[in-house]
Amino acid sequence: MPETTATPEPIQRLIEALHRLPGVGPKSAQRLAYHLVRTSPQEADALARAIVEARERIRYCSRCLNLTEADPCAVCTDPRRDQSLVCVVEQPLDVLAIERSGIYRGLYHVLHGILNPMEGIGPEHLHLSELRARVEAGGVAEVIMATNPSLEGEATVMYVQRLLSPLGVRVTRLARGLPSGADLEYADAVTLARALEGRQEI
Ligand code: ZN
Repeated sequence: MPETTATPEPIQRLIEALHRLPGVGPKSAQRLAYHLVRTSPQEADALARAIVEARERIRYCSRCLNLTEADPCAVCTDPRRDQSLVCVVEQPLDVLAIERSGIYRGLYHVLHGILNPMEGIGPEHLHLSELRARVEAGGVAEVIMATNPSLEGEATVMYVQRLLSPLGVRVTRLARGLPSGADLEYADAVTLARALEGRQEI
């Protein structure tokens, strides 16, 4: 970002911090920073505190690795949910997408990433040993792979299938129909519901 003497240093620092957020380009960062420094002290303080509090109070669920305040999370402890189904997703936002589909009543497992040898992300960087341990502990009948329809998603599906098939668990994947390369996070509820209903054994 071009630095200019017209930007006071504290604003410049705020711009840089905002620019590091996903989806915030240099222009948006500038616009947000100039907006924020003109809000009331109360408003600015509330925003700052919301960020700090969320960061302090949110952790990973020790069972499904989703983000939660209480551990285990509300999904893992919900007695109405089917404990024998585990849906594997790349990131917490994918859980929200699947919940929006309205038809899934099982549990989740969040990998917090995807296999990507080009970027040096191997199985040891994902929460795969935890997934294996959950299946080994018993009670899981089916693991549904709901990774994004990408090359890396595909490689992850194959890896998990090899990892879990010796344990005698059924491993399925979402039906094709999600546009290739698209993010699950942005898939509409109807498409996701269909992909879940039509899931196939690998
Ligand atoms: Zn959980």
